Amino acid sequence: ATMPPLLSAIANAGRHGVLIKSAVVMERLGQIDAVALDKTGTLTEGAPRITDIRPLSGAALDADALLALAAAAEHPSEHPLGRAVVAAARERGLQVPGVEDFASTPGLGVTATVGGVKVAVGSPERLLRGLSGQRAADAATAAAGLEGQGRTAVLVTLDGVPAGALGIADRLRPDAAATVASLTALTGAAPVLVTGDNPRSAARLAGEVGIIDVRAGLLPADKVAAVRQMENAGHKVLVVGDGVNDAPALAAAHSGIAMGRAGSDLALETADAVVVRDELAAIPAVVALSRRAKRLVV
Ligand code: ADP
Ligand code: MG
Repeated sequence: ATMPPLLSAIANAGRHGVLIKSAVVMERLGQIDAVALDKTGTLTEGAPRITDIRPLSGAALDADALLALAAAAEHPSEHPLGRAVVAAARERGLQVPGVEDFASTPGLGVTATVGGVKVAVGSPERLLRGLSGQRAADAATAAAGLEGQGRTAVLVTLDGVPAGALGIADRLRPDAAATVASLTALTGAAPVLVTGDNPRSAARLAGEVGIIDVRAGLLPADKVAAVRQMENAGHKVLVVGDGVNDAPALAAAHSGIAMGRAGSDLALETADAVVVRDELAAIPAVVALSRRAKRLVV
């Protein structure tokens, strides 16, 4: 028997390293006419590295102590930023204390109790909200300085008081710009960047890949709202993401694709399709495959 076009398209997608979960998914992928891309772990490799460790003056902590506390709090985290913090502590041979009461808030950061002290590591904007005084001002300056260099800055607070900032850099995937160009050609408009990261580093990266529409500082629900807005404007949206913070948007969109290698379990379960081999360029290829299969059916 000859394989039905949608099934052979699924087999072809598999050859591109993309796992398509059903024939319906394959068919819907051929209908998308707009794309929303996550930044960290999607357009970037998701293997970020700590580049700067900045204890605040007055915090009475050196760089190693700051990093060790941050790594303790991040130890249970599966977020790429959390893994980067833990890896940096390990590289420096630091002893990372055990924690209690770990909690993570997608798009914001983590908290944990270390030896009776509540350590928070996360978005500077969020952690500084409502804080005032010299230490908060110094922390804001340190974070803005790092972000101005295109870094992602995360803040460390101890019992709610800023103790230092970490600078993190992630490489753009080698096929990111080409993928954005292919998706632009397929849909007639450049993809939209939807990221929880800060506007400064988001805008910088967008410029490098040819994205114009940048939505930064988004929480998971804000990503959903961005997708809904595009769909209300009449588009069928493809969301590509990797994180727990992307799962609601992956579910809400017409089609959702997760980056598989470093992607969170929740993103992989929620998405309609998974890029198993780590090539972003497989995504426009699979959309094109789906459109062709559709034409064969009609
Ligand atoms: P993106 O949408 O680009 O994938 P996320 O929504 O995952 O980014 O993260 C957005 C921001 O939330 C990060 O830039 C950081 O400030 C903060 N954040 C999220 N998770 C963590 C974590 N585990 N440790 C520190 N900061 C975090
Ligand atoms: Mg991400």
